[in-house]
Amino acid sequence: MTIEPSTNLTCVKTKFYQADEDEPEPNPSVLWEVERLRLKLDKFKQEKAKLLCTQKTLTLQTQTLSALVSELTQKLEAERCDRQQSESIYQFLVMNLLREKADLEIMLDTIVEHSDLMEELLHEQCIRDPLTGLFNRRYLAKSLERELCRAQLTERSLGLIMLDVDHFKNFNDSYGHEAGDVVLRELGWLLKTESGALDIACRYGGEEFMVILPEATLEKTQQQAEHLRQQVKGLNLTYLDQDLPRVSISVGVAVFPQHGLSGTQLMQAADAALYQGKTQGRDRVVIATV
Ligand code: GH3
Ligand code: MG
Ligand code: MG
Repeated sequence: MTIEPSTNLTCVKTKFYQADEDEPEPNPSVLWEVERLRLKLDKFKQEKAKLLCTQKTLTLQTQTLSALVSELTQKLEAERCDRQQSESIYQFLVMNLLREKADLEIMLDTIVEHSDLMEELLHEQCIRDPLTGLFNRRYLAKSLERELCRAQLTERSLGLIMLDVDHFKNFNDSYGHEAGDVVLRELGWLLKTESGALDIACRYGGEEFMVILPEATLEKTQQQAEHLRQQVKGLNLTYLDQDLPRVSISVGVAVFPQHGLSGTQLMQAADAALYQGKTQGRDRVVIATV
C-alpha cells in the first residue's frame, strides 16, 4: 500500500491540532505512522548518501577511464603515424633497391657483352696477322691439319699455294719500309677478296703468303695461283700520293694427295716449287714435283 505523504501529514497535523486544542490522548497509530515515516525518511537519506557516494566514485572512475581512453587514443594515433612513416620509408627503400637491381642487371649484361667482345677480340688477335688482317702462321698450321683430315675422310683433294714477293728487299730499300707495308697490306686484301669461300688465306711470315684450297684439284689450284699472280702484277699502288712500281710474286703449288700426305710434306713441296720459281726467273707459278 502506498501512502501519500502530503495527504497523510495534513491528516496527522489536523489530528494533532485537534489534540492540542482538546488535549486528547495521542493517537498511537498516528504516532506509529509518524515513526515509521521518520524511519523510512532516514533510510532514504542513508540510501541517498550512499547513492551520492557511488555517484562520486562513478564520476571519478569515468574521469579516469576517459583520461585513459584519450591517452590510449593518442598513443594509437602516434603509432599509426609511426607505422605510416615507416611504411613510406620502406616503400622508398624497396623502390631504390629495385632501381639499383635493374642498374646492376644492366651493368652485368654490359660486362658479359664486353667480356664476350674481349674474348672475340683476343681470339681474333690470336689468329690474325695485324698488318694484313689475314690469318697468321699458327692458324694456318692448324687449318691445314684440319682440312687434310677432312680431305682424307672425304677422299677429296686439297690445294696449297705458297707465294713470295719478288725482290722485296730491294723494294724496301728503294721506297722505304712503310711503302713496303702498303704492298703487303694490298696483297693481303687481294688474297682475301680473290679467294673462294672455302679458301683460307694466311700470312706465313715476312713477305710470304699461303692459301689453302679445300677440295681443289691440281688444275683448279694452278688456275687460282695463276690468277693471283696476274692480279698482283696488275696492282696499282700508291704511297703518300706517289705511285709505287708494280710488284710481282713467285708461286709454288702443291696438292694433296699427289705431292704429300701431311701438312709438312705439302708445305715442303710448295716451298720447293716456289724456290724453283725464284731460280727460274721469278714472277711465275711452279707446280711441285711428285
Ligand atoms: P726474293 O725475290 O728472292 O724473295 O728476294 P727478296 O728480297 O724478296 O727476299 P729476301 O728474303 O732477301 O727479303 C725479304 C724482305 O722482306 C726483307 C724484309 O725487310 C722484308 N720484310 C719482311 N717483313 C716485312 C714487313 O712486315 N714489312 C716490310 N715492309 N718488309 C718486310
Ligand atoms: Mg721475297
Ligand atoms: Mg721471302
